[in-house]
Amino acid sequence: MPTSICRLSLFAVSLLVVLLECGSSCAAPARRSSENSSSPITVVIDAGHGGHDRGGIPGQKVAEKDMNLDVAQRLRNVLAASGYRVIMTRDSDVFVPLPTRVAIANSYRNAIFVCIHFNSTQRMGASGIETYFYSRDSLPLASAIHYFVVGGAPSANRGVRRRGYYVLRRTNVPAVLVECGFLTNPTEAAYAQTASYRQKLAEEIAAGVRGRNSVTGGLSTTRVATSETVPLQPYIDQTKVTSSDHRRSKRSHKKSTRRKKSSSKPAGSEARSAPGDPEG
Ligand SMILES: [Zn+2]
Repeated sequence: MPTSICRLSLFAVSLLVVLLECGSSCAAPARRSSENSSSPITVVIDAGHGGHDRGGIPGQKVAEKDMNLDVAQRLRNVLAASGYRVIMTRDSDVFVPLPTRVAIANSYRNAIFVCIHFNSTQRMGASGIETYFYSRDSLPLASAIHYFVVGGAPSANRGVRRRGYYVLRRTNVPAVLVECGFLTNPTEAAYAQTASYRQKLAEEIAAGVRGRNSVTGGLSTTRVATSETVPLQPYIDQTKVTSSDHRRSKRSHKKSTRRKKSSSKPAGSEARSAPGDPEG
């Protein structure tokens, strides 16, 4: 199957899954009014954790807070170069309480909020990219960012998921939390520790930010598909999708020779992000 078709199908599946999860509480993205693309947009970038909050699980070798901050700073640079006004909830290794992060996001009327995280679990085999949203207004942004990051990363697609993380639930603006891979997976941790890969992640997230209106507006771009342009796919539990059907794209072909562990079981991040855990 041509790469472009694979990627479009992947995106359609992602969109379908989140719509199924949302049920009637979410409007179909294609029916939402398009955002005025000429209006100034502030992107509030939230590097997860920081300071005494290292992120991840106890004993984890690679500090999640450091990876988050580096990707966030790279994302800031990419978006600023594209003309966006960018605000960082933290720009150094400091602890910022979650309400403060939310307050920063909510202080800008025409803003979007992008939280950068890496995943972790006790099960080393767990791998992949997942993107979270909560409000219906956040769905197009989540879908677009997930589409680009999964397309550019040599990692499994764990899907777009709706979950009530504090920073997603309490923000008044479109808010998305991206889990950029598992630092407890040796292969994904090795990638995360590579500056070029973190730059790639930042560029793909930025592409999602730029492409968010294509999801709502629909048909003006060929890179982001909508439900109108791609036939609906059968429901797939994306926590069980193996990597072989979507990992190979020309945008990640250089890494496609890497052997990758695929999993038939959901990874353990769900346990870590059970109700009560405010942040991924
Ligand atoms: Zn985290």
